[in-house]
Amino acid sequence: MKVAVIGGGVGGLAVAYELRKPALSGRPAPEVTVYEAQSRFGGNADTVNFSFGKGPQGEIRRWVDLGVNDFNTAAYNDIMTVMKAIGFEEGVDYRPLEDTTSYYTGDGSTFFTDNATPWWGTGMAPTLKASVDDFMSTAGADGDNPKYIDYTLEQYIDERSGERKWDPQLGPRVIYPRVNGMYFTSAELGPRRMPFYAVMHYYKIQEGAGGDPARRMYFVGGASHWIQTLTAYMAKRMGVRLVSGFSAAVAREGDGWTVIDSADGARRETADTVVIATHANDGLRLLKTPPPGVAPIMASIRYETAVSVAHVDARLLPVDQNAWCTYNIVIHEPGAVALKPYVINYVCNRHQNDAENPDYNRFGLPMFFLSINPHQPIRESMVLKDDNGTPAFAYLHHNVFDFACMKAQHDIEPLQGAAGLYFAGGWTHGSGLHEECWQQGMQVAGAILKRFENAEAPAPAVPDKAAFLAARLRETAAG
Ligand SMILES: Cc1cc2nc3c(=O)[nH]c(=O)nc-3n(C[C@H](O)[C@H](O)[C@H](O)COP(=O)(O)OP(=O)(O)OC[C@H]3O[C@@H](n4cnc5c(N)ncnc54)[C@H](O)[C@@H]3O)c2cc1C
Repeated sequence: MKVAVIGGGVGGLAVAYELRKPALSGRPAPEVTVYEAQSRFGGNADTVNFSFGKGPQGEIRRWVDLGVNDFNTAAYNDIMTVMKAIGFEEGVDYRPLEDTTSYYTGDGSTFFTDNATPWWGTGMAPTLKASVDDFMSTAGADGDNPKYIDYTLEQYIDERSGERKWDPQLGPRVIYPRVNGMYFTSAELGPRRMPFYAVMHYYKIQEGAGGDPARRMYFVGGASHWIQTLTAYMAKRMGVRLVSGFSAAVAREGDGWTVIDSADGARRETADTVVIATHANDGLRLLKTPPPGVAPIMASIRYETAVSVAHVDARLLPVDQNAWCTYNIVIHEPGAVALKPYVINYVCNRHQNDAENPDYNRFGLPMFFLSINPHQPIRESMVLKDDNGTPAFAYLHHNVFDFACMKAQHDIEPLQGAAGLYFAGGWTHGSGLHEECWQQGMQVAGAILKRFENAEAPAPAVPDKAAFLAARLRETAAG
């Protein structure tokens, strides 16, 4: 059996890895090719390397993640299993990051920090802090309660505030701004109108709400180091064929599929089974013969484009440097219009709290930042450049995790496998975090392997939407 996986982000790599796992113990496994349009694998995991020039002890080299940058070892169980298998180790390849957050208004007049040691009055007011902590445990527990499946975040906070005695500032000053910094939020809907369920998928898995406390890690050398380690292992040890620079289109021909290089149509390969592991909008374009029912589901997924810029422009941070944290969240004043999609500013020096460079954060060495959708323009001269002089920025896309997406995730499942076609990647599973992409990869690979082994593939039994999404979240967030 030949399987073509289209898209070499973590969603596609997960399917390929899981499909070839039997080969590691000498058992038969399908032939697997991953086709990636770009010259590198990893999709939203994209690292830029650069130099700050010569320091007293030689060149000061750093790196910055433009997209994917952290993970939580307390919840990313399947990713942890893979990391262990490929020899990706804590302390060497990934390390704990400083998990602190500041909140500040765009003019810098208001700011406070969370989790950070309050310094010179920068801490969050105790009543607000108590409400944030209570929200995390209460909403974390409610995040898989089917009662709240159709609630917006604002409806949930309004309904629970009286009983839980939450500070009226909880939503406007902390939760809504924080959610506006999550990559799957829509500018059009704004954080208040996001589904409560969707928000809690992220909070539970990434930030440990209502479960085991998060142990958030950064990738030493950036997320691309993880992808490179993974792909090297898959190519050398598992026999996965990895083809980059191949923007694929697929068409059903006879009993199988043809994979066509859409650049010129000349390169053509065949496959028995195809896995679309691109974003849904790209998938719609590349899938020339969608089975009945598939296209409307894919078309219901909306995407936001964000610009991610690495720079040294401190004007984007709180005016008081004592309030600078790893994550810095701009508060949109109540009634403000023109919300951007996700807005967040990282102090990279804190994020890469890197023992390898113990002198790095000392006085005098440059602080640098990553802004996703900067709320103020950044001067060109302050944008970091990579070793080739290319400015360190990228346009990133991610699906909006709205009510339509929740419905699509449910509705696509019974169509998995029709005409030998499957779907994976961020839009198909929860908030599309690495761990969720990996779980989808395991499910899709499991179904294909059953067919490969000629086992009767049982028709997937998909419960109603609330039970389905809640079960997935419970499974992913279980420590
Ligand atoms: C700013 C940002 C920060 C994030 N931070 C984190 C984080 O810290 N931790 C985390 O777990 N998750 C994070 N995420 C979520 C992240 O997107 C997912 O974890 C994951 O990377 C999504 O993987 P994917 O494979 O679905 O999509 P992608 O990574 O986007 O990969 C899709 C791939 O398909 C390729 N492709 C498209 N069309 C074709 C074609 N025709 N032929 C061949 N290839 C094609 C693309 O080039 C791309 O490489 C973040 C997302 C964003 C946007």
